[in-house]
Amino acid sequence: GIVLGIESSCDETAAALVDSERRILAQRIASQDEAHRPYGGVVPEIAARAHAERIAPLVEATLADAGMALDDVDAIAATAGPGLIGGVMVGLVTAKALAMASGKPLIAVNHLEGHALSPRLADATLAYPYLLLLVSGGHCQVLLVEALGRYRRLATTIDDALGEAFDKTAKILGLGYPGGPAVERLAREGNPRAVPLPRPLVGSGEPHFSFAGLKSAVLRAHQAGTHSAADLAASFQQAAIDCVVDRTRIALSAVSSATALVVAGGVAANQAMRAALEQLAAEFGLPFVAPPLALCTDNAAMIAWAGVERLGQSDPLDFAARPRWPLDPDAQPVRGAGV
Ligand code: ATP
Ligand code: MG
Ligand code: FE
Repeated sequence: GIVLGIESSCDETAAALVDSERRILAQRIASQDEAHRPYGGVVPEIAARAHAERIAPLVEATLADAGMALDDVDAIAATAGPGLIGGVMVGLVTAKALAMASGKPLIAVNHLEGHALSPRLADATLAYPYLLLLVSGGHCQVLLVEALGRYRRLATTIDDALGEAFDKTAKILGLGYPGGPAVERLAREGNPRAVPLPRPLVGSGEPHFSFAGLKSAVLRAHQAGTHSAADLAASFQQAAIDCVVDRTRIALSAVSSATALVVAGGVAANQAMRAALEQLAAEFGLPFVAPPLALCTDNAAMIAWAGVERLGQSDPLDFAARPRWPLDPDAQPVRGAGV
């Protein structure tokens, strides 16, 4: 089967065609980085307008790249949440219109499920259940991925997401938007041991995350003016990695059924993070799986792939966009968690 995927939950407008053989037949991403850069972050109104302007020609171009027509696809999958509601609605309504016009089924995809299953698009041997570290702009969770649609949340952040911490650090250091890749680049030139920074929650028995205190410490160290931006970036990145490794180790110790340690989401593009997690997986004798960089940050191939995994299902054409949509609806809220 072949699925057309559409993604518009944040600031990338994207479309892709993926088949059951895990082939990405075509994919296009229109980034809005330039539009949001002057504001130092994503402006929802600007994002929604940009998605609306770009989505239709982008879908057409993606089909043309593959030499296909809508008739050739078996389903149309679109992100239906969570994310910025204006953008999500643009992608979802586009998918509904295409589904209605073509008579093909609509598959409403949870953006986080897209991230969670993206490693399976990249690696055909990855089997359930696997332990997933989902680190993105809005989330920092450890999930046991038991089966398609069965996600057990073992840990979450009590304040900031990890990508958010990278973005805020970039802002403090004047590195601009988007922040994660800029922090990683500058960190290569700095000393990760130069600045003493806290490792929030490290050593705690519950595998939850916290990054607000780390970010504030970066701000104070920056204001003190005694360290170079490169040393601050490197020390921040090292502290963040130490937290992630410690917290994930606790989660890994708590589940014996996982067949692999898997990382996904935008921050999974960070090479130092990948190297540290690969070592952690080896500690447990587990394979380590991380999608190629282009599948870590937001893209439509992962949404199309979630659609491939769900082929045979369909959602009603009045499916409402969901600004919030937890992967594990049974997960208990964590004390102190903002979201
Ligand atoms: P969510 O998926 O939680 O809804 P999102 O879709 O906005 O949030 P993603 O596109 O998955 O987030 O990830 C973007 C985040 O990843 C940003 O915070 C960005 O700074 C971070 N990021 C991207 N590349 C890197 C990198 N190389 N190192 C660290 N962080 C990175
Ligand atoms: Mg983006
Ligand atoms: Fe995302």
